[in-house]
Amino acid sequence: MDAARILRNAEGCPEGSPNSFLMNDAFRTRTDCRICGSTDLAKVLDLGSTPPANAYLRAEQLDQPERTFPLELHFCRTCSLAQLIHVVAPEILFHDYHYVTGASTPSVEHFRRYAAETIAPLITNTHDLVVDIGGNDGVLLEAVRDFARVLNVDPASNLAGLSEARGVPFMARFFSERVACEIVLEHGAAAVVTANNVFAHTDVLLDAFNGVRVLIGETGTFVCEVHWVGDLLERNCFDQIYHEHLCFYSLHAMNWLMKRAGLTLVDVEIVPTQGQSLRVFAKREGVPSIAVKNLLALEVAKGVTGEAEFVAFAARVSANRDAVLSLVKDLKASGKRIAGYGAPAKGNTLLNYYGLGPSEIEYLVDSTPQKQGLYSPGMHIPIVDRQMLESDPVDYAIILAWNFRDAILSKEASVRKAGTKFIVTVPSVEIF
Ligand SMILES: [Zn+2]
Repeated sequence: MDAARILRNAEGCPEGSPNSFLMNDAFRTRTDCRICGSTDLAKVLDLGSTPPANAYLRAEQLDQPERTFPLELHFCRTCSLAQLIHVVAPEILFHDYHYVTGASTPSVEHFRRYAAETIAPLITNTHDLVVDIGGNDGVLLEAVRDFARVLNVDPASNLAGLSEARGVPFMARFFSERVACEIVLEHGAAAVVTANNVFAHTDVLLDAFNGVRVLIGETGTFVCEVHWVGDLLERNCFDQIYHEHLCFYSLHAMNWLMKRAGLTLVDVEIVPTQGQSLRVFAKREGVPSIAVKNLLALEVAKGVTGEAEFVAFAARVSANRDAVLSLVKDLKASGKRIAGYGAPAKGNTLLNYYGLGPSEIEYLVDSTPQKQGLYSPGMHIPIVDRQMLESDPVDYAIILAWNFRDAILSKEASVRKAGTKFIVTVPSVEIF
């Protein structure tokens, strides 16, 4: 079906917001898988009822009741997607969403390489169009605009100015099939459509993927990066689970989704972003590469596509909590003082699941000025400047931003020399 006809058929339909059915509710509970529609879902991990991980509190909010939502991981026995079934309204989740790609140097370098090594080889001339879904402040497309036309489609209209200042045109919309049709009619089909770390957050996936099929036309390529569920299982990083992250993809689940949208998975790479991510390549028609076949086979061998591996993961998570609580109890019993290092969203999954509050952890240090002076959601631990580790030193600091462990340990060499020991709890408990 051509773009104009899809648009005509869609006249009068609501804008394709990923969560548009939530307009009047704080959250809804799905009963079906968001990829394959199966209702054969198994609850494999229950992290309790927690506030949104980014809902940091001001002092005057501490006495008010905090809204919490179930945080449970469910496994689809049909397509193998691991997912949250409780979908919190985006108005609540993204109310204070300030993440800007350009503020993170490793991300900037990652996207420059991505543009040169992954996108450039797919471009044949400067008239080719590259569309980035959820392109944030335009960092990726800034590195593309010298060799192709570019368009950033992102619902966060507050980022339009930053994107345009980089020379990257901005369309402030949730990506949907309807939006894809509008782009095709105005600019033509895209040679490349990218979406990086976007579809973990999307509840209504099929509309977006149908839109991709429309937008890439007969010959374009879709490149999509998502965190790999194999990494979640392997590294035990259950702190990746919070309400913003609705989907944890295996290549099998992604393959299901592509097929449902009329796309063919043609290639895949595992890239070292956020641990290990899948970078998948799809076209309307094509032949899966040997890498696709190998990774599908590897997932079966690792058990990623079976419920048993998730049940074992849940047991490891529970054992991890026992180990952490036992250590903290021993330290407190011997009069030791403990702080937290970093106040990332994922740290709040850990703190709430462990049930560690200000009576165990006196403060969290974080270098983000906007977080200093606030309190962690759920456990209400004050967030302060890292200077506190020098002015009011503790015996132990639990690293919540554990993916930056090595950088933190070397940055804090003088604090360590002065006597503070550092603890990581994920993937397992270690003291440095
Ligand atoms: Zn499914």
